[in-house]
This record gives sequence, C-alpha cells and structure tokens, in this order.
Amino acid sequence: MDLYSDTQTKPTAAMRRAIADAEVGDEQQGTDPTVSRLCARVAEMLGHEAGLFLPTGTMCNLVAVAAHTSPGDAIVTSLDSHIVRSETGGAAAYSGVITDLLAGDRGRFGPEATAEALAPGHVYRPWPRLVCLEQTHNFGGGTVWPLAQYRAVADVAHRHDVPVHTDGARLFNATVASGTDPSDWGEPVESIWVDFTKGLGAPIGAVLVGGRDFIEAVRTHKHRCGGAMRQAGIAAAGCLYALDHHVERLADDHANAARLAEGLAALGLDTEDTETNMVWIDVSSTGLSAADFLERLEARDVRMSRVEERVRAVTHLDVSAGGVEIAITAVAAVLADLR
Ligand SMILES: *Cc1c(COP(=O)(O)O)cnc(C)c1O
Repeated sequence: MDLYSDTQTKPTAAMRRAIADAEVGDEQQGTDPTVSRLCARVAEMLGHEAGLFLPTGTMCNLVAVAAHTSPGDAIVTSLDSHIVRSETGGAAAYSGVITDLLAGDRGRFGPEATAEALAPGHVYRPWPRLVCLEQTHNFGGGTVWPLAQYRAVADVAHRHDVPVHTDGARLFNATVASGTDPSDWGEPVESIWVDFTKGLGAPIGAVLVGGRDFIEAVRTHKHRCGGAMRQAGIAAAGCLYALDHHVERLADDHANAARLAEGLAALGLDTEDTETNMVWIDVSSTGLSAADFLERLEARDVRMSRVEERVRAVTHLDVSAGGVEIAITAVAAVLADLR
C-alpha cells in the first residue's frame, strides 16, 4: 500500500491507450496539436490568455519567478512553500531573488501580513516584486486557501503593483474540496500552473498559464533551461485524459484520507486536520522516531513518507478504500508490537 505520495500513481491502461494514440508534432516549434489543445484548454479553465506546457511543476515555478523578477528582488511567500523548501534553491540560483517568508496558518497568510511585507521600506532593502501562493499547500498539510483570503492577499499585492504567482500543483484537489471553479483561483493572479503528475495520475507534465506577454517571456526561460520539447503530445495526451477522467474522482481520495485520519486517531495517533488528500501524523506519542515508525510500517508493506518528524500519508488514484483499511491495520500492528 503506497501512501508515499500522489506522485506514485501509474498511468492506467486507458490513459496509456490515449497516450499511444496521440497526434504529435514539434512542441518546441509550437506545432504539436495535442500540446496546443491542452494549453488552450487549461488557459481557458483558469481564465487566462495563454498557456505553456512544461515537463515539471518545478520548472513552472523556476521560469515564472524568472519572468516576474530581476536579480536582487525579493519574493514574498510562505515559510514552508515548495519554492523555498523543495526546489534546490532554484529561484535564488536562476533568478537571483531572495525570499521574504511569512508564517501564516499552515501555509496560508493574510492580507495584513502581505501589506506589511510589501510596505515601502528603506532604500537599502531588497524590493519585493512578487507574491507566491500555493494551493493546496503541501507542507501546510494539503490545506486549502479560503477564496476570500486568497483574493484579499492578491488585492493587497495589486495595490502595491506587485503580481501574484500561484503554485497550483494540487489546484484540483482544492477546487474539488471547496466546490470552487478553477477560474476562481486563476483570475485573481497573474500566473498559475497545475501539475498532472500528482493526484491526476499522468506520467509527465504541467501547464503554466498567464497573459500572452508573460507566456512569451517564460517560453524563453523554458528554452534556456532545456525545457523545450519535441513530440510532447505523447505526454500531453495523458494530461488531457486526466482532465477528462481524473478530476472529479479526487473526492474519493479526500474521503479516503479522512477515513485514514479517523482510523489513526482511533489508534491514539495525533493527526493534523485533513482538508484534502494528505494526512500528517505526529508519531511522537509512540516513542518511535518518524524514521523508525516508517521502517516498521514498511516491513508490513505500507509506505508513507516524512518531513523531519512529521509523517505524511497521501491518498491517490492507486489507493482504494480497502487499501486504507489495510494501512490502518498495519499501523495498529506496529503499535501492538510496542506493547
Ligand atoms: C510536487 C510539487 C511541485 C513540483 O512539481 P514537480 O512536477 O514534481 O516538479 C511544486 N509545488 C508543489 C506544491 C508540489 O507539491
């Protein structure tokens, strides 16, 4: 039972057929019809003029930050955003920006903190030129920004003439959990992207959207990073298939995560509030380190991951309701061994 991450999904047989049948061209030259179809569709869904297909979400963040900033600028983002924690310092290395980190509530900060970060400061300080949000917030716990708070933060940024970029690696988890439309999250910001390799279950690809000029600027950065591709319709076909078949079913992943959290709580484990497809678990009450806990669990064929001492279990396409019960039983057995 693999709860390590929703990146562990394998393409389904039907997705593989869609991939095999994909019409292809040359993505780098803008002539791959399947890629063009995907980009147009995602741009429309998110309420933006244009979209660009990229190999990974990490590259979406890399090129978007580059297009929005100049070396020496500051980007304002949450303390534990993916850009800060998990992209090997790409924003610093490639764009030369430094970060102004806001604490917030499990990845979500408010308009007051944003206003404070963007307030005119001393001439010596780095100039804040971009606000970066993350929906859902991964290290925050798969948390969903409330739409009003998200809009309020974007409004503050715009009052300071600062654009907003949203890392929407799991945007569809947020729309399904909150009953909102993708365009609700796209329209308030200058750029936003979605990942197809998380809960959507495709093997490769992410789409970044924004205004036409912005997309032309990021196309240059993408090429410079070696991200321009050839017959990428092979990958885009999996993404289109995922949009048609794997969005609404994210509700099942959320129900499975809620059931997992409930089962673990019944075993006496502390879990953070579960808002989408992630369950974050504090195993300190067992007396085991997170690493030790995971090792014992893995011996029982259940895989989870950890960030320092927090254990994370993620539900996805390849985790059934029955699989969740298997995982709960395995955790119960690990705890029983301790007695
Ligand atoms: C996974 C993830 C990324 C990076 O996406 P890749 O496609 O794995 O490069 C960026 N941001 C968040 C919040 C993520 O969860």
